[in-house]
Amino acid sequence: MNKIQTIYKTLHKTYGPQGWWPLSKNSLYSKHHNGPPKSNRDVFEIIVGAILTQNTTWKNVEKTITLLNKNKLMDPKNILAIPEKTLAKIIRSSGYYNQKAIKLKIIAKFLYHTKFYNLLQLSTNDLRNILLKIKGIGPETADSIVLYAFEKPIFVVDAYTKRIFSRLGLINENNNYDEVQQFFHKHLRKNLKVYKEYHALIVKHAKMYCHKKPLCKECILRKNCKYYADIKQNYKESYS
Ligand code: SF4
Repeated sequence: MNKIQTIYKTLHKTYGPQGWWPLSKNSLYSKHHNGPPKSNRDVFEIIVGAILTQNTTWKNVEKTITLLNKNKLMDPKNILAIPEKTLAKIIRSSGYYNQKAIKLKIIAKFLYHTKFYNLLQLSTNDLRNILLKIKGIGPETADSIVLYAFEKPIFVVDAYTKRIFSRLGLINENNNYDEVQQFFHKHLRKNLKVYKEYHALIVKHAKMYCHKKPLCKECILRKNCKYYADIKQNYKESYS
């Protein structure tokens, strides 16, 4: 088992399955709150969530999703029908609301004219490339949509992934998005469930221990962490 697989096992054993994507309790057509999408509405909610979560916390996104549900806006047609300024007011709690209102309008227009079913038939790369051509969708958002909304295996990279794995000494902190993604694709067997869980577990671990100011002494990965080894070494040198 390589290091990437061992880390996955450790995180999974520690935190348990995360069951992403966290769907809202307001879902009208499905009883579940977490997990794979069961309807087009769920797919749309994941896409909306992936856009809203850009540069903000998930707590803020949850508030916005509740409001969108209350206003019957978890539907591309209804997003298209509402004036942009009104939409911006409703999604205010997600920050950057003017830009995000524009992005939601753009993706709603795209989805209104493109059947979910046709997107589902595309290969992972074709779907990703189509999403990347849409204004306001970068690699992380596109990959979150491909993985969690359309359930196609692609590894999602975010700031937490870069932070943890560069501190562990497994990637370079200057590696770009594609380089980090390729690293995971190379060291992990292509597996939808593992890709979904691994990303969620990375987010969990970053929130629990690997903060900007990390809590290394309590961290379950510390034995194999370069950052922690360097701290210990520096400490030894200063007191020897
Ligand atoms: S030991 Fe510290 S730096 Fe390394 S992964 Fe854990 S919290 Fe992050």
